[in-house]
Formats: sequence, C-alpha cells, structure tokens
Amino acid sequence: MTAEELQNIARQHDCPAYVYDAHKIIDQYKRLENAFAKVPKLRIHYAVKALSNLSVLQLFNQLGSGLDTVSIQEVRLGLQAGVPAHKIIYTPNGVSLSELEEAVELGVQINIDNLIMLEEFGTLHPEVPVCIRINPHVMAGGNTNISVGHIDSKFGISIHQLPHILRIVKNTGMNINGVHMHTGSDILDIDVFIHAADILFDVARNFDDLEFIDFGSGFKVPYHENDISTDIEELGEKLSNRFDQFCKSYGKDLTLAFEPGKFLVSEAGYFLARVNGVKQTTSTVFAQVDSGFNHFIRPMFYGSQHDILNVTHPDRKARFYSVVGYICETDTFANNKLISGISDGDVLAFKNAGAYCFTMASNYNSRFRPAEILWYDGVSHLIRKREVFDDLVRNQELVSLKLDDHAAKVDAQ
Ligand SMILES: *Cc1c(COP(=O)(O)O)cnc(C)c1O
Repeated sequence: MTAEELQNIARQHDCPAYVYDAHKIIDQYKRLENAFAKVPKLRIHYAVKALSNLSVLQLFNQLGSGLDTVSIQEVRLGLQAGVPAHKIIYTPNGVSLSELEEAVELGVQINIDNLIMLEEFGTLHPEVPVCIRINPHVMAGGNTNISVGHIDSKFGISIHQLPHILRIVKNTGMNINGVHMHTGSDILDIDVFIHAADILFDVARNFDDLEFIDFGSGFKVPYHENDISTDIEELGEKLSNRFDQFCKSYGKDLTLAFEPGKFLVSEAGYFLARVNGVKQTTSTVFAQVDSGFNHFIRPMFYGSQHDILNVTHPDRKARFYSVVGYICETDTFANNKLISGISDGDVLAFKNAGAYCFTMASNYNSRFRPAEILWYDGVSHLIRKREVFDDLVRNQELVSLKLDDHAAKVDAQ
C-alpha cells in the first residue's frame, strides 16, 4: 500500500488503527498454493491466532482455506465466519478433556499433543478420528520463545515416545487419521525442515488409516528490505517430491497440510498511530505516538524490528528517531530508526503488523483497542470499530463494600 492510501485511511478512520491489505493476503495464499501445485491433495489451514477478525477468516474461506485453531473460541469464530467444520483443525495445548469433546461435537478435526490425553480420549471415544502432534525435536529457529519443536518444548508428544503412542492406539482401538508437527516460527534452513519431515514420515508409516500429514508452519517472512525469509518455492519443490515418494510407498495419496499464520498475514498489516509530540533530548529525538504495547506488543515482547513509515510526510529528509508510546511504562517501538522527518500530528505506519498484533492487543492503561480495516480494490472496509468507554465497563459489576460494618466490628473487639 502507498503512503497516500494509508494517510487517506487514517483521515477516514482516525488512529490508532490496523489496516490489512487483502491483496497481499490473497497473493501470499496463492504463492503457497503454487509452491505445492504438484501435490494432488493440498490443504492450507490458516492459523487463526495470528489474526482472528471474522472478515479475515471469511476471506480465507473464500480462498478455499481451512483453519488451524488453538481454542474452542477460535473454532467458534471460524464457524461463524462460515468455514465448514470439516475444514477446521483444532490443535490445543494443555486443555481439558471436555474442551476436546466440545470440539468433536462441533465437528472439527482434533489434534492431540499429550500421551495421557491420548489414552483418556481414545478409551472414551475410540471411534473419533484423531490426529497426533509429534515433537520431532528439531530446532527450527534460533529463538527458543518461538521455536517449539526442540527438546525442552511443552508442545507435542516426543518422537521418543512412539512405542508408547502405538501401545495406546492398539489398546484403545482408536482411529489415527493424521500426524502433525509444528516446529515453531522462523524456518531458515529448508534442509532442517525436510529432516523433521522425514522423521514425521517414519512416524506415519506406523499407522494404516492416515488421511493427512500436517507439517505445521513456522515460515519466516521478511521484515525489511534484504531480510532473510523462508524460501517457500524451494520448500515446495523439495517437500513435494519427498511427499510424493512417501505416498507411493504408503500406497495412498494423502493430503499434505500446512497451517501458516505469519506467512499469510504478517506483511499485509499496517498499524497506524499518530504522533502526539516530537521531543528532542540530549541523546536522541523521541517521536511519541498515541499507542503503546497495549496495541502493538511485538517489538517489546519479541524484540521484533518493524519498519516505520511517515505516511503524512513520506518524502522529507530522513532522521533517526526513537519511537515510543504513551503507556506509563517503557514502551519503545523502535530505537534509532531512520524515518522521514516527523512533525506533530503525523501518522506513522508500522509494517508487518498483520500477524500477532491486534490479537495480542489489550486494554492496559484502560485504553481502547484499535479499529481494524480491511482494504481491497481501493476501498477501506471497517471490520472492527475502535472500542468506546462502554466496552471498558461492560461485564463489570460495581460493588460497594460495607466498610462501616467491618469498622464497627473491629471497634467492638
Ligand atoms: C501458532 C501456530 C501456527 C502458526 O504459526 P506461524 O508462525 O504464525 O505460521 C501453526 N500451528 C500451530 C499449532 C500453532 O500453534
């Protein structure tokens, strides 16, 4: 999107606001589909937790995507957006048996990632098809916060426990229709990913009635020019071939599934915030915006570096700024960022704000969560209103304690 388009949206809808470029979402979806065009049965499950607005889910539904969900509420959002239950996979971690049962009632595919739950569920419902989440113990990226396939991770059933899995499946007579892995974010080395996939194929050979193999996600997207990213086309080439070989030896064409979040929506998103003040100190120039980690926490939580554009004055001489928020706590969005000269009232756009941004927003400091806008073909559709004061007090009960009674009792003692 151009600076002018973003500036117009800010004028129309005010700040702070998230803007999602539907064209970019569609392009990324098609790019992934094309990379795996050789696979006869491909299923993309968009990971709802990255960006869960109903209109975005509806867009994925229109593209033919399924959904990957991690809570029963995400399942419900998917159903409400019109996604058929059979295209939704539910991959929770550490949830109760009753939540799994609820998901089955709603008709979605469940994925179990713990041995005790597998045994319990299989004993009670041997007829329900279940996918198993395997932890192949492969380190995907450098950062252990976002890499979830390594040895210390809480996710998935360890590959070393395969004999126990098989015993449970045999004892309960349960039906395993899929195997799954999700090694976490930021896959940079395709060969490491293929290595993990090979481990999953070895697991898959132990089950006779599989319908799909789900390779999770963890595709890295670029955050700035010349940034490294997962080469989806190379992955498509290599994994499609491997998958084809596997299906031949398995004797059946299985569905190859993925569940990307970041890859599909990160680059489509822009977070718009307005500059309340430019402050020159002895060491730097601060640009203070009408936002904070209540709206956009990735820079503080993950240390992610988002490019920032001055969409009001995109063509001025660039200067180095520290961009900070208005929260009563350290809330630095960026240090020493080169941005086109900022004046009070300018609108800044933070890039890569589609994934894990609005969905992590809170009401900290009793601020309203931002508006969300879906942009398509030159039209900006408001898909979530900015909150208002009533939203902050809804669900609260104003209780007045009878302090005098208590004081009287204390006095009497
Ligand atoms: C979060 C998550 C994803 C999506 O990961 P991205 O890095 O956003 O692509 C996929 N699968 C599962 C099980 C997840 O928890």
